[in-house]
Amino acid sequence: MAATMVQRSANLCSLARPLRVGSFSSKIGAYSSYISPAASSLQQESDSTTYSDVDERVDVDWDNLGFGLMPTDYMYTMKCAKEGNFEHGLLTRYQNIELSPFAGVINYGQGLLEGTKAYRKENGNLLLFRPDQNAIRMKIGAERLCMPCPSVDQFVDALKQTVIANERWVPPPGKGSLYIRPLLMGSGPVLGLAPAPEYTFLVYAAPVGNYFKSGIAPLDLYVEEEYHRATSGGTGFVKAISNYAQGLKASGRAKSRGFSDVLYLDSVEKKYLEEVTCSNIFIVKGDVISTPATNGTILPGITRKSIIDIARHNGYKVEERVISIDELMNADEVFCTGTAVVVAPVGSVTYQTNRIEFRTGLQALSHQMYSTLLGIQTGVIEDVKGWTVEIQ
Ligand SMILES: *Cc1c(COP(=O)(O)O)cnc(C)c1O
Repeated sequence: MAATMVQRSANLCSLARPLRVGSFSSKIGAYSSYISPAASSLQQESDSTTYSDVDERVDVDWDNLGFGLMPTDYMYTMKCAKEGNFEHGLLTRYQNIELSPFAGVINYGQGLLEGTKAYRKENGNLLLFRPDQNAIRMKIGAERLCMPCPSVDQFVDALKQTVIANERWVPPPGKGSLYIRPLLMGSGPVLGLAPAPEYTFLVYAAPVGNYFKSGIAPLDLYVEEEYHRATSGGTGFVKAISNYAQGLKASGRAKSRGFSDVLYLDSVEKKYLEEVTCSNIFIVKGDVISTPATNGTILPGITRKSIIDIARHNGYKVEERVISIDELMNADEVFCTGTAVVVAPVGSVTYQTNRIEFRTGLQALSHQMYSTLLGIQTGVIEDVKGWTVEIQ
């Protein structure tokens, strides 16, 4: 019956219409939905059934949680017309979405993604980490791709609602996190290249294990010289969906040769560090920490920014500047930062035929940075900077 319903939803507007109770059921409980005005607190739709399934435990082996996709119960949807404003966000059962084959996003790549995590504290409460920063980054990206964007409040509210609705999928403390994926896309149909006539903002989530199962496994990076991730004047500084598939070839080739990932160089001189596929890079020499300045071709990571703050707070000198590959090859330590990895030590970098190893392990600065940041994100270390948002 659910399938019939999906087929009948012939246009995109149906996405924003709550499904009727009883049309949809699953092994985890009765269907229910919530509707709420944008930026309001969670509010139950009057004729919906109970929201009881969130109290039931999910059948997940938390100790062996990996990175396989495990969708959760609910997703959030909010739409707007081209010149309009986003409003009437809606939480529905997690479901497939329908798009016109002419939708701007699938023809011309008018789309942006975001990524953040919710952790469960020891007291059971849930913590978001700097969600306003994701909201601001999405706004910058929307401006670059000529899209309207939810306000910061709408964005953060949508994340909270999505996390609360999927609360039972947030792993116990120490077992992982709930990965949250906000997406903004030109969902309306266009023929010639132009901004889409309608936009959809979605938030959905999936539990993920800790990136490092047993201790921290250092990354082996390969310096990519043939392919580039971003060019000056392009979209490298925003999370445009079109930035990612183009990198599959380089990282696939590196992985097939036994490397963890690629490190990209600037596309003009092929000499200066940019970043790794989905994480920013830092080098350590003596007690100076350096990272490439964000100049338009590097994604300004929220983890990057947070690590810069933590390092300075702990008395380290941190420089954001141009860094050559030769300088990296002479560093004491190299590490990567990003929502997925938090802070990942780099064990080796291979540039042309030269493989250099770097300090890793418990004595490494990367380990200190990892423990401090993860401690703040999980509520184990006091958050003096007001970065975390506690829910429930
Ligand atoms: C998302 C992303 C990062 C890391 O950003 P965080 O906000 O720290 O997760 C780094 N580089 C690229 C290309 C990314 O897409």
